[in-house]
Amino acid sequence: MPVVRYDGRTEAFMGARGYGRGLDGVWRDAAGRSFAQALSGRPSPSAWVRTWGCQMNEADSEALRGQLQGLGYAEAADETGADLFLLNTCAVRGSAAEHALGEVGRLKQVKTERPEVVLGVCGCLTQMSETVEYLRRHAPHVDLIFGTHNLHDLPALLHRAHVEEAQTVDVWDQAPETVEHLPLRRAAGVRAWVNIIYGCDKYCTYCIVPTTRGRERSRRPGDILAEVEALAAQGYREITLLGQNVNSYGHDLGTYDFADLLRDLAAVPGIRWIRYTTSHPRDFTPRMVEMIAATPKVCEHFHLPVQSGSDRVLRWMNRGYTRASYLQLVAEVRRLLPHATVTTDLIVGFPRETEADFRETLALVEEVGYDNAFTFQYSPRAGTPAARWEDPVPPEVKKERLDRLNALQYALSRRRNEALVGQTLEVLVEGESRKDPGVFTARSRGNRLVLVPGAPGAEWRFAHARITSAQTWTLRGVLVDIEHADASPRGSEPVAPLGA
Ligand code: SF4
Repeated sequence: MPVVRYDGRTEAFMGARGYGRGLDGVWRDAAGRSFAQALSGRPSPSAWVRTWGCQMNEADSEALRGQLQGLGYAEAADETGADLFLLNTCAVRGSAAEHALGEVGRLKQVKTERPEVVLGVCGCLTQMSETVEYLRRHAPHVDLIFGTHNLHDLPALLHRAHVEEAQTVDVWDQAPETVEHLPLRRAAGVRAWVNIIYGCDKYCTYCIVPTTRGRERSRRPGDILAEVEALAAQGYREITLLGQNVNSYGHDLGTYDFADLLRDLAAVPGIRWIRYTTSHPRDFTPRMVEMIAATPKVCEHFHLPVQSGSDRVLRWMNRGYTRASYLQLVAEVRRLLPHATVTTDLIVGFPRETEADFRETLALVEEVGYDNAFTFQYSPRAGTPAARWEDPVPPEVKKERLDRLNALQYALSRRRNEALVGQTLEVLVEGESRKDPGVFTARSRGNRLVLVPGAPGAEWRFAHARITSAQTWTLRGVLVDIEHADASPRGSEPVAPLGA
């Protein structure tokens, strides 16, 4: 897969239109107007980006925001007064798709009141031809429609949306190249997402992602390493490696795989914790588990989406592993890292799933003893093979199975959390809880949410928390120490005791 640089590409586009990059990094014309000012005709144009879906979409929105910044758009805190709206949509679940399309409908009023506003819709949903058709027919107030493979072309897309009379539609079927050096506007804190592989080749029969995100493309190790080194230099301490299937990383590069990448990234000074999402049990090799166990910077959280405990259902889903091989992987994780957090995704009510199949799922959940699970009632996604199958499982049966599964998982989650009461966990403190003023949220290495009393100066610091009580989804605790901002490597003695 060819690799191109975003900056070179943008320079060519901007240069041809008489723009040069100012000292503030913003593209400006000879009169000193930013690209955004020239397009919108407004003195202080702002953009509002709304995101649905997974971390990959969140990371894409960081790339949209980063580009918008370079074009001279301020970030609108909310939609009031924004000059540009971008809706970054998700196609994985029907509810997310409905929300996004509902938002498109709602924004019609804004366009009626302020016709100069530009409304763009992008993301996974617009990679589906039905969505584009729907927007063309029913939402002529949408000015711009683009997809996941050309979000790096935002300057050209916005230019077209402003100059073209009709709706601008530009959706690519595949990514012809990997674009590096995209400007990213990251969320606050010391935590950053780093894409390592795009797309998915697995074609699970219920999933639309291979259609919306294309074939797998691994980024080159050197590009990832350079990004992580730059993040460390900027003060980021935790990175989460992103991909639809991170375990498949490198299969298109030769002999370098995900285990090698973890080893090399762990050697970057300053990076303290490494996480990754999402894993595929089929591609999670014993060598990867060994590498994680031998690499203290990689957090002990294994999210291993199993989807079903029945071999028949797994086969219909095209998951590529069996119940036995999955349990073998979990056993390997438990053997090397007995205290690791293990979480999963589960779908109940898949077409033709019987009560016996479902009971196998319940038994597997009990056997693994997951710390947490994301559970879903199957609903068909247009464009997937499973959506074309007869589905004899009535909705009320699906719902009843979901309720039974949730009851089991809630009890397990609570039990797993209660086992931590009295222990001291290493955490990264995030900041004040949105729901509970005076309380700070923190995440443990195992990705558990820990609530602690607010402590001045603790935001985005590593710390240790003694766990005092447990609920199903959260732990409560007290901070027993906070490490200095530039924390020493894992395992070293904490400093700045609070005397608790
Ligand atoms: S592995 Fe399966 S579920 Fe995951 S993104 Fe790929 S096709 Fe979808």
